[in-house]
Parts: sequence; C-alpha cells; structure tokens
Amino acid sequence: MEKSIFEKILSKEIPSEIIYETQHVFAINDINPVAPVHILVIPKMKIATINDLEDKDMDLIGEIVLTAKKLAFERGIQDSGYRLIWNTNGHGQQTVYHIHLHLIGGKQLSWSF
Ligand code: AMP
Repeated sequence: MEKSIFEKILSKEIPSEIIYETQHVFAINDINPVAPVHILVIPKMKIATINDLEDKDMDLIGEIVLTAKKLAFERGIQDSGYRLIWNTNGHGQQTVYHIHLHLIGGKQLSWSF
C-alpha cells in the first residue's frame, strides 16, 4: 500500500518538524495554516478514515484527543478557545487519507457552511 504524506513525514522522506511525539502519535504544524495555531495530531499507524476505526482503537483516539488538549495548553489557547476537527471523506473535505485531528485556534473562528 502506498505511504501517506504523514507516513513519509514520519520516515523523514518528506521534511517536516515533528513538534510532539510518543510511541503511538505525533504532531506537526499544518503546512497551510488557517489560524495562528493549526496543528495536526496523527497516529503513527495509518488508518485511512474515521470510518475505519475499530473498538481496539479507543485508547489511540483518546491519546490523540488528549494530545490536542495538551498542545492547546502549551500554546496558551485553552481559555480563548479552539476547535478540534476530523474531516472525513469527500463531503468532509478530507484530503489526506490517514486520519489526523486538526487543532485550530489563536483567533476568533467563524462557523458557516
Ligand atoms: P484534511 O483536508 O483534513 O485531510 O487535512 C490535511 C491537512 O494536511 C491539510 O490541512 C494540509 O494543509 C495538511 N498537509 C498536507 N501536506 C502537509 C505537509 N507536508 N506538512 C504539513 N501539513 C500538511
């Protein structure tokens, strides 16, 4: 199976600064930020979409969300607020088919569709 962009970042085939890493997850700054803070929290194991999650992935998803919270505190946006987003498939505008949680904040966000 072809490697995702995020697997290539993890294996250093594509340069990117890994800003946080544990045994199971890592985080990078989004290359095309939509806000002053725009971080992607990514499982090291490739799971294509949220649809592919199984019960065994519960701890992994918990770690991803808690990592996003930790990074929100590190960036000092915990009180001003932020948004966590999992885009899924076409209508969700997912572009990288390796799940990742967007942590977005540092400015007033809008909500329009
Ligand atoms: P999504 O549209 O939810 O699949 O999000 C994919 C995100 O990955 C987008 O916000 C892209 O800007 C981001 N992205 C793509 N390539 C890179 C890269 N090499 N380094 C950091 N972020 C990237």
